[in-house]
Amino acid sequence: LLEVTGLNKAFGDNHVLRGIDLTVPTGSVTVLIGPSGSGKTTVLRSLNALEIPDAGTVRIGDVSVDFTAKPDRRQITKLRAQSGMVFQSHNLFPHLSVLRNVMEGPVVVQRRPVAEVRSEALELLRRVGLSEKAEQYPHQLSGGQQQRVGIARALAIKPRLMLFDEPTSALDPELVGEVLTVMKDLAADGWTMVVVTHEMRFARQVADQVLFLDGGVVAERGTPAEVLDHPREERTQRFLHRLT
Ligand code: ATP
Repeated sequence: LLEVTGLNKAFGDNHVLRGIDLTVPTGSVTVLIGPSGSGKTTVLRSLNALEIPDAGTVRIGDVSVDFTAKPDRRQITKLRAQSGMVFQSHNLFPHLSVLRNVMEGPVVVQRRPVAEVRSEALELLRRVGLSEKAEQYPHQLSGGQQQRVGIARALAIKPRLMLFDEPTSALDPELVGEVLTVMKDLAADGWTMVVVTHEMRFARQVADQVLFLDGGVVAERGTPAEVLDHPREERTQRFLHRLT
């Protein structure tokens, strides 16, 4: 479903991505791990052109964008529509109810009929366990509930691919589980997902492939068993050792 080749990105003289290749089959879960500053977030943001890479291609389904050739706005808009993104902190609209937050993308951006979007949004809220919160406002929810609304909102645009950027790292420890449970359910339902996370248990349970990024390159990739339990590279070993 997703294919990335030769992704390069520099911020000034900080060369953050140095040729990232990545293939994500439909219905699979890819987890990106690596030290702070290794480029994980930049990779994820490049997948939906929140960050514009200097070079490389990103293909999602039949939408392919060659960043080396300086794509136009229309191509970038098309690429963005392919994926739903969940950020470290929810960035919900504070002045809109939970239900309205979930409806915003389909109604305002995709211009779909309100009644239809509303019933889909209610179904999505049920799916993330928040039916009873539909008419509340973001500040009335816990951090974990807000993140679950963020997931429902990302799903509402019916993306082909879901991107998660450390969705639990800003949460109190007791709230992490409920968000990971929703993500596990999505994986079990066959969603294609790319997840940046430090939750190694989640990676072990859910990932089909794990990529270890270091210094803007994929230093090691494989199944969770290969990368997390039997890393071949010394820098992977050192990174995992520091986490435990
Ligand atoms: P973390 O785990 O800390 O989030 P990361 O692996 O996700 O790290 P990135 O956020 O991708 O790393 O950042 C990689 C490098 O790019 C860092 O050195 C960071 O300072 C730099 N960087 C990221 N975004 C920008 C930006 N918009 N402008 C300038 N530098 C940036």
